[in-house]
Amino acid sequence: MKYIFGNWKSNKNLNGALEWLKDFGKVNSDNEIVLLPAFNLLGAIYEKAREAGFVLGVQDLSSMAAGSYTGAVSAVNLEGMEVKYAILGHSERRHHFGETDQDVANKVERALEAGLVPVVCVDEEYIFSQAAALEQSQLSKCMVAYEPLSAIGTGEEMSVKKVEVVFAQIKKVFGEVKVIYGGSVNPDNVDEYLLVGDGVLVGTASLDAKEFSALSK
Ligand code: PEP
Repeated sequence: MKYIFGNWKSNKNLNGALEWLKDFGKVNSDNEIVLLPAFNLLGAIYEKAREAGFVLGVQDLSSMAAGSYTGAVSAVNLEGMEVKYAILGHSERRHHFGETDQDVANKVERALEAGLVPVVCVDEEYIFSQAAALEQSQLSKCMVAYEPLSAIGTGEEMSVKKVEVVFAQIKKVFGEVKVIYGGSVNPDNVDEYLLVGDGVLVGTASLDAKEFSALSK
């Protein structure tokens, strides 16, 4: 089984999300199709999404436990919605919000405590530093997404050969973890990436239900 993540980022309002679910219809795949809506949309659509056969995830998670942390979304806030995955350390979080390897490590700890699967996003330059910020015992509990900055949202996907090389580097450092690729994945190139790894993380092409359906085979 492969893993296909659709990251809506901060796109879509409630109507748009409901419309998308209607257009997509039921999941019809042997793969795990994971939807990552914004937190507020997750609360509004999780039942419908699960009924349609999606597995749910979040795009981020507070590095703190539940408590007096205004604006943060903790793992406790997600209870009852059957969320399985937390994408952590996406390059957009690192770049726009100043997240460090240690911040990501703290989030991994919160995710694991809550029984969520952390999907740690890395680019080549910080595979090692990110792994070093994690406890040895946490490494094998992560899924790792290779997300080269040059390929994210640019339409310039990384060559499959290069992706294979980086997957091997990730496994050397993290151990036998599941590895997925993200960066301009679309219905035409998805198969090549699924052949060499465990799945894909899809941004732009997940925003259109028909396009995401075409690659969620
Ligand atoms: C992403 O942001 O994780 C991503 C892979 O985006 P896109 O598919 O648009 O390149």
